[in-house]
Amino acid sequence: MKIVRTISGLKKEIRAAQSAGKSIGFVPTMGFLHEGHLTLARQARSQNDVVVMSIFVNPLQFGPNEDFERYPRDEERDTRLAGEVGVDLLFLPSVEEMYPEEPAVTLTVHKRTNALCGLSREGHFDGVATVVMKLFHLTEADRAYFGKKDAQQLAVIHGLVDALNVPIEIIGVDTVREPDGLAKSSRNVYLLPEEREKAPAIYKALGLIKQSVEAGETDVASLKQKARYVLEEEAGAVIDYLEILSYPALEPIEKVNETIIAAAAVQYKQARLIDNVILPVKGSAPCTAQ
Ligand code: AMP
Repeated sequence: MKIVRTISGLKKEIRAAQSAGKSIGFVPTMGFLHEGHLTLARQARSQNDVVVMSIFVNPLQFGPNEDFERYPRDEERDTRLAGEVGVDLLFLPSVEEMYPEEPAVTLTVHKRTNALCGLSREGHFDGVATVVMKLFHLTEADRAYFGKKDAQQLAVIHGLVDALNVPIEIIGVDTVREPDGLAKSSRNVYLLPEEREKAPAIYKALGLIKQSVEAGETDVASLKQKARYVLEEEAGAVIDYLEILSYPALEPIEKVNETIIAAAAVQYKQARLIDNVILPVKGSAPCTAQ
């Protein structure tokens, strides 16, 4: 595995791969790798000649009161894990390399942000779209891999690629979970032991929505009420949101009769966790964010 820290070093490697006629799969991450990230990398490995992974904690997507400074980082361990899953090229740019000065142009996302995390994390998805667009240009990848764990991000990236005709295939990968159901996340390390014990209640609440929808229940208000009760009673956290929306448009709905997302965000003392389930409903338009 080659490690590159500069844009010029990355471009050199990309040009070499392209002139050898190789396909490129790209996995963007913020590091502190876990099985979720590694699953994306393995899928990229199985579908491309060259796998590029980036590790970059992007300041543009963090609000002033968020955890940019204390976001967990471990370059040595990440490098070892990336090598083990077959990443060919690990791109580790500094903030100065990516943003040598305040960018003259950034992107603004107009759809799919007026809901869920978009409501409390102002500018977050603009920062995501801007860095992802830069990384797409830098890697010139054929395919890019994103987790459904961040389903709103995946919907925004599909919107970005469609709106700006970016020549790349976006591949959504299923959420990887701990044995007790908690979605793997770099931020799980910040849970106190008693919080870690209660956190699986997030997926339990979402699972209740899944089971009820599969059993034929369609009333969104009553689905949300049942799941909220579980979250309030068992998660031991402050609920930021518990929502059921259409997916990937993320519009409010009253009845379940199309593909939906049930999503939750909760705040523990030192960690804000999100999770979701996407439920395709029979006979509805296929979900584009696969
Ligand atoms: P992050 O480093 O948190 O920005 O995540 C990098 C990529 O890994 C994003 O596309 C995430 O959606 C994906 N990801 C994070 N956690 C998981 C998970 N538990 N399962 C699958 N993908 C994940």
